[in-house]
Amino acid sequence: MGNSQIKEEKETSEVKDQVFESQFKRIIYTPNNFNNDPKNTEWNNVLLKIEGGVLYSFMDSRLEHKVKINKAISISAEDAHLKEFLLGLQLSGEDFIWRLRSETLVEFIQWKKALMICRRPEWQKSNVCQECGAAFHVYRRSHHCRSCGRQLCDKCSSYFMDLESMGYITQQRSCKKCISEWKMIRNSTTGSMIEERKRISRSIMKQKMSLLNATKDSFLEKDLKESSNPSLLCGMGKDGF
Ligand SMILES: [Zn+2]
Ligand SMILES: [Zn+2]
Repeated sequence: MGNSQIKEEKETSEVKDQVFESQFKRIIYTPNNFNNDPKNTEWNNVLLKIEGGVLYSFMDSRLEHKVKINKAISISAEDAHLKEFLLGLQLSGEDFIWRLRSETLVEFIQWKKALMICRRPEWQKSNVCQECGAAFHVYRRSHHCRSCGRQLCDKCSSYFMDLESMGYITQQRSCKKCISEWKMIRNSTTGSMIEERKRISRSIMKQKMSLLNATKDSFLEKDLKESSNPSLLCGMGKDGF
């Protein structure tokens, strides 16, 4: 077990041991309202809490959902400017996307990191490789697959992949099973889900652009009104170049 393993394990447990609690604005998307015009969907207040790797949501001080943060939960899009992110999650076997808006940028960053790190699996302990069964000893060191948490020999964990969604910034050691699972997910079953999420992110982008344009237009109108004085207009021209 190398130093980097110990460091990662420490960082993961430090984040998982912390309690996070913040107020968010939320819009819930279901497979039925994916296509709704975003203007018609309402923002609601929700209090979210992470404790012991479990996500709790409260509406009007009442517990609404309690869900373990694992691979079934993911951040599918984010926008730091709007302090918004899309959280894909399964509740009672159904897919939902929560569009969440943080109150501050600090909370946005904290929550994003906490949610991603809480998705990391517990590291399992074994005396033998959990894939091929070979016993570990001085000459056969053990490693952990960062994606499933199994303890494996070097041969069975010699793959590396991006695990950004778990808060890693470099490629991480993985096993063959996790690599093929990831390829399968990318290529087939959840393809439609990914498409839906992309569509929602595009709709957020569109909203953001219209908001920016509206602000720009009102500023322009204000500028034009204020600069009806020709001398002022000349001055602006000079400054502009
Ligand atoms: Zn092995
Ligand atoms: Zn694995």
